[in-house]
Amino acid sequence: MKRPPLEMRRNFGIISHIDAGKTTTTERILFYSGTVHRIGEVDEGQATTDWMAQERERGISITAAAITCLWGDYEITLIDTPGHVDFTIEVERSLRVLDGAIAIFSAVEGVEPQSETVWHQAEKFRVPRLTFINKLDRLGADFERTIGMMREKLGARPVLMQWPDGEGSAYTGQVDVLTGDYLTWSDADEGRSLSRRPAEGALKERAAALRDALIEAAADFDEALMAAYLEGGEVSEAMLKRALRKGTLAGALTPVFCGSSLRNRGVQPLLDAVVDYLPSPLDVPSAVGRLPEEKGGGEAVRPAEADAPFAALVFKVQIDEGRRLTYLRVYSGQAKVGDSVWNPARGASERLARLFRMYSHKRERIEAIGAGDIVAAAGLKGAATGDTLCTEKDPILFESISAAPPVISVAIEPRDATGAKKLGETLDKLEAEDPTFHATRDEGSGQIVMSGMGELHLDVLARRILDEFGVPVRIGRPRVVYRETIKKAAEAEAVFDRELGGKPQFARIRLRVSPAPGAGVTLENSVPAGAAPAHLIASAEAALRAASSSGYLAGYEMTDIRVELIEAHTDERGTEAAFGIAAGNAFGEACRAAGGQLLEPVMAVEVATPEEFTGAVIGDLNGRGGRVGGMEERGGTAQIVRAQVSLAQMFGYATALRSATQGRATYTMAFSHYEACEMAGG
Ligand code: GDP
Ligand code: MG
Repeated sequence: MKRPPLEMRRNFGIISHIDAGKTTTTERILFYSGTVHRIGEVDEGQATTDWMAQERERGISITAAAITCLWGDYEITLIDTPGHVDFTIEVERSLRVLDGAIAIFSAVEGVEPQSETVWHQAEKFRVPRLTFINKLDRLGADFERTIGMMREKLGARPVLMQWPDGEGSAYTGQVDVLTGDYLTWSDADEGRSLSRRPAEGALKERAAALRDALIEAAADFDEALMAAYLEGGEVSEAMLKRALRKGTLAGALTPVFCGSSLRNRGVQPLLDAVVDYLPSPLDVPSAVGRLPEEKGGGEAVRPAEADAPFAALVFKVQIDEGRRLTYLRVYSGQAKVGDSVWNPARGASERLARLFRMYSHKRERIEAIGAGDIVAAAGLKGAATGDTLCTEKDPILFESISAAPPVISVAIEPRDATGAKKLGETLDKLEAEDPTFHATRDEGSGQIVMSGMGELHLDVLARRILDEFGVPVRIGRPRVVYRETIKKAAEAEAVFDRELGGKPQFARIRLRVSPAPGAGVTLENSVPAGAAPAHLIASAEAALRAASSSGYLAGYEMTDIRVELIEAHTDERGTEAAFGIAAGNAFGEACRAAGGQLLEPVMAVEVATPEEFTGAVIGDLNGRGGRVGGMEERGGTAQIVRAQVSLAQMFGYATALRSATQGRATYTMAFSHYEACEMAGG
């Protein structure tokens, strides 16, 4: 089958707070586009995109699933993302490679805290958005209030493309502002037949008024429309759509659609809107990256054209039945099965052994990939999330995908001796999949520690180790992952002058460490040129990087520290080993003189609670040493309490909150920043 041209393709994601209805809506998209032949419900553990056993059991999405299907003559590829903060990397990497997004809000809860987070993530990547206001069938649904929240909380400029006739049990249909049609769906065929008839009476009047508002909003983006509007002339549907498309692509306005996915209402017009208003790969700016150092650094651009050099970003690695499946977004050029691709970050070439178009967990083998595609490849062994793949002749490096630091760790051990080797291999695979997950072995005790974003994150992974990889394990209690830094600047010198392996070796290193808040670890070389050979300096730098990754106070990774190599001396006895050891010793000496400081993760916590429990919630957060930063009303009867609390005080919070509020409050928690603290209990 011939594929539609690039301007007839749409890559988009579905983003929102947990439970707003992303997966339920995705399932309808698959059903109405003919991709699946029956609707699989989240509540029955049957949703197509929640394919992982735990997703089906827990009723939440954990991984982002990509699916390609046809809508009319258009090819759409969509990614259903998880809403829970513990899996925020999935949203981050999806938005990085998508061209557009649908933000879903529940008409009952409105714009929830996690919706704000994902909305801002989308803004960061300049991803144009449509909005779908879902759950109109539910008691307490309030369309207008949700629109108001979009304005207030998101600073969005919503334009109403539809509005519902009735809410909750009174919700019967909706009005299409562009055409003035009244839309209803039939329950007999799961909403497949959508009927349109002209709206009448008050509905008709309201549609006309809203159409004027639409024209006014759209006129800013299209001169022909502006002229027609000012002269009071006729504005055609096509003209209006074109102007709205421009405004949406510019990120200046957000068309709003509505419905109830569970009741099979509102989804087909939403898909039409994806085609009408979201960008094709040609509508987004050309991908910008950097040339590798050896090519002179500097900016390089890759347009979405077939004859441009091949360039793609690895945005996800998934271990599927033991094999690596590497997800790619191709930005320019093309490649076919069997081609070698160049990974400049790793200085390695790899072969695209097999290529696939993805249908969630199923896949179709394809022969070639090209600009605009979101596809997967098998056979790549080295490429990790955030790596660029290109040609060796025209190398480019796209910005990598940033992952938040892990804040929680647990000890893990195999239940029996035979599991030890398998556990090591399994952890390697999970680390390859998930940049927010780390497994380390303590050199002294041999204990293995897994660290990640939160208790749910580690819990899900621990279960996968047993269920998917068949390794029975014991898991310790969750612990905080601290960091280390230094209190003040200090200088130190170290000399290495000894025989190693029967050979005399010599190096003298002088360096300075200084606090650098917010800068991570930075390494600078101010050694006068020619003082020592470059490969020996490089060895000293590698040793410093290693030393700072297992700090000096309690073995935690260091951060917010600047290390400056000032002097390096040697003679004919200079070796890499001598430089490495001297640098490591000088670093330890300097950190001792500067004084170590332990840092703890502080979390941004948001609790949504019914009003009557607000006092109890705040009292409890204060009791945990939290700083309550603000409160606001949400949806008339709920309060949102925001606080910053040290993570060490948040263990077991889910249970405490449940009992303090009779299970009626919910909370989200995400890493905010590090703060100085004292070492607890030595
Ligand atoms: P996600 O976390 O955003 O993927 O949300 P899900 O699609 O998993 O839906 C969360 C819950 O809301 C499930 O129990 C759905 O059945 C329910 N749900 C989704 N859409 C609607 C809707 O339009 N109306 C009602 N009443 N429930 C819905
Ligand atoms: Mg979901």
